[in-house]
Amino acid sequence: MQRLGTNIKGYSGETINIDAVQHDCVAAAQAHGWSIEAIHPAPRLILALTRHAPRTTQHAPRLYISTGIHGDEPAGPLAARLLLQENVWPPGLEIRMCPCLNPTGFALNRRENRDGLDLNRQYLAPQAEETLAHIAWLKRQPPFDLCLCLHEDWEAHGFYLYELNPDRLPSPAEAMIARVATFCPIDRSEMIESWPAKNGIIRPDLDPRNRPQWPEAFFLITHKTRLSYTLEAPSDFPLAVRVAALVSAVRTALEALSGPTAAPRPGHSET
Ligand SMILES: [Zn+2]
Repeated sequence: MQRLGTNIKGYSGETINIDAVQHDCVAAAQAHGWSIEAIHPAPRLILALTRHAPRTTQHAPRLYISTGIHGDEPAGPLAARLLLQENVWPPGLEIRMCPCLNPTGFALNRRENRDGLDLNRQYLAPQAEETLAHIAWLKRQPPFDLCLCLHEDWEAHGFYLYELNPDRLPSPAEAMIARVATFCPIDRSEMIESWPAKNGIIRPDLDPRNRPQWPEAFFLITHKTRLSYTLEAPSDFPLAVRVAALVSAVRTALEALSGPTAAPRPGHSET
């Protein structure tokens, strides 16, 4: 698959109407019986959608998915919408999803919010009202067994991911890469974003406490989970492929967490 070659100094591909996408997410969540909470009002509308496990389920695995923290990464919210609309999940799974953490960034097709803040550097000393609201909500939630943060990278040669797994729990990373590789290029560079990488997997050797600017994943691994993935779709490739890559990676991780889901739908091309 050829790169589109349109991303020169940043993302130059398709943009999305984030209000419409969030509206679709609410409609799908409602249709499938999820609870819906606005943790910050419009125009910085941040939704938290919750799928409760059946009452009969004991010790339901808890999943957290977030995306749309960078307003020039449209595949994430589109993947969240598709996951909600298809509503194919392992039985008994409890899910919390934030389908867009930076709506004002999408209105401008830029990474930062409309005040120029990179929200994914706000999680140690938050100033942005979006992040303050998000952290307050996260603190009210129970711990998660798995956290997935969906992103895109305009420079990447293919899909890749970051793993934070301090306890060396069984890792779905290789399975995610193998599944995505069936239809999307993988960035197999030995260095990605200044981190050593192997076959599209970055396992950063770091202690968040030594870092001055925290992405969301550092907050999650410090306070909410012991297993976190940041998934990066390559945004110089077709949007439908990137959405499918993120959805497939999510489904693969869920299978590892909970056993097989219902049959996935490869080749879904909704954008
Ligand atoms: Zn990002």
